[in-house]
Amino acid sequence: MEGGRIKFWIQVHGIPHDLMDKETGILIGEMLGVLAEAEDPKVDGILRRPYLRIRVSINITKDLPTGFWLDREEMLPLWVFFKYERLPDSYCFNCGILGHEKKTCKNPTDPTKNKHSPGLGVSQRRPGPTMGGGFSKQQGWREEGKE
Ligand SMILES: [Zn+2]
Repeated sequence: MEGGRIKFWIQVHGIPHDLMDKETGILIGEMLGVLAEAEDPKVDGILRRPYLRIRVSINITKDLPTGFWLDREEMLPLWVFFKYERLPDSYCFNCGILGHEKKTCKNPTDPTKNKHSPGLGVSQRRPGPTMGGGFSKQQGWREEGKE
């Protein structure tokens, strides 16, 4: 760990089709930390995978961002969530910080904070999920088949 930052490949899931481009990846990457690389999700105009992939240098002394609510005009907001590739074993699922595991976590579990969501800037004004059910149905194309 240099200076409390680690570079991750991050998969961004739940982005609507019309926003699946490199620019969106860059935007999200700059929101998360220091963007190193954003993959173009399209080859010859065709999506090659159902998520964006960006490489970002993240400050790991704070809890890792897990996602954000994406506001859309005249539509329900979408929960966009991140998957970190090769997340180290030392990631604590209790407090969301790297460096120790959950079983050795000394931070108390905060019952008012059930998700490690640091407010990523895009949708901070949204008070949070009000619709039950979350993101399972509204993501029209969550098939991940073609790996
Ligand atoms: Zn912890």
